Amino acid sequence: MSEIHKFIFEGLPVRGAVVRLTDAWVEILRRRASNTTHGAYPAQVQALLGEMTAAAVLMQSNIKFNGSLIVQVFGDGPVKLAVVEVQSDFALRATATVNGEVPADASLSQMVNVGNEGRCAITLDPENRQPGQQPYQGVVPLFGDHKEKLEKFSDVLQHYMLQSEQLDTTLVLAADDKVAAGLLIQRLPMAGTGNLAGSAQASDEDQIGINEHYNRIAVLASSLKPEELLTLDVETILHRLFWDETLLRFAPLQGEVGPHFSCTCNRERVTKMINGLGVDEAQSIMQELGQIEVGCDFCGAQYRFDAIDVAQIFRQPGELPPASSAVQ
Ligand SMILES: [Zn+2]
Repeated sequence: MSEIHKFIFEGLPVRGAVVRLTDAWVEILRRRASNTTHGAYPAQVQALLGEMTAAAVLMQSNIKFNGSLIVQVFGDGPVKLAVVEVQSDFALRATATVNGEVPADASLSQMVNVGNEGRCAITLDPENRQPGQQPYQGVVPLFGDHKEKLEKFSDVLQHYMLQSEQLDTTLVLAADDKVAAGLLIQRLPMAGTGNLAGSAQASDEDQIGINEHYNRIAVLASSLKPEELLTLDVETILHRLFWDETLLRFAPLQGEVGPHFSCTCNRERVTKMINGLGVDEAQSIMQELGQIEVGCDFCGAQYRFDAIDVAQIFRQPGELPPASSAVQ
């Protein structure tokens, strides 16, 4: 069962979370593997998409926000796009577009950052977004401070959190064909009145002490190996890493309130998309193929539109629907 465990370190401005996606992640891979157009992901793409999915769930669990959190990698290599979307209720979906050979031992840069042009975008799209209102988006490159290519996706996100959110963050991510998992440790912002250390006006000295706490915990977190993250249960992971710290645990989010696969695609949205093509383009597809077929890359659903359906889409208001569909 997929699960999220959140915790704070008692008396310290440091919080953390562990996510383990099992059924939700296997469902994403199963749907992809059964897609006759694409087939299963190459192993390294699977690992990247799994790490992105675990990270997106960690980030969504860490913010007070009602809407979808979207993590995208725009690659300049054989992986053109990898995208994960997580809703506030942890409904999630993910897909990647592969266009070319991905070697079995491909590194992150060989997949998405060949010419150092790859980008990672984090988007927060509020549920009740007003017309004209833009979703919030932050974008970071896939290189470090000295333009060196980053080879771990966790490093990309750590840069993002520091640059965009001014938050010190430590991430360990891992994924295989059964589990996508992640550990996040974050220093809580000092700004504002209340912080968990209880000192509203922290002096420089306090600040140094607080940094020491975060640094110590970050070193412990970083010692977690990907194999451990994939194979150990959450209790064992937390005990092994933080046995000497005092953790305050929140009730785990699992089952109905935990991460689960769900796709937001539906026929109405596809109808709008076809409408957006315009009547000429739609008719030319109809003439060539006899129908319009749109597949969802996230869940594999196929939406088919025959001549009557297409006529309906472009029917002027007030015009009567074609007789044949009225009969059906
Ligand atoms: Zn779908």
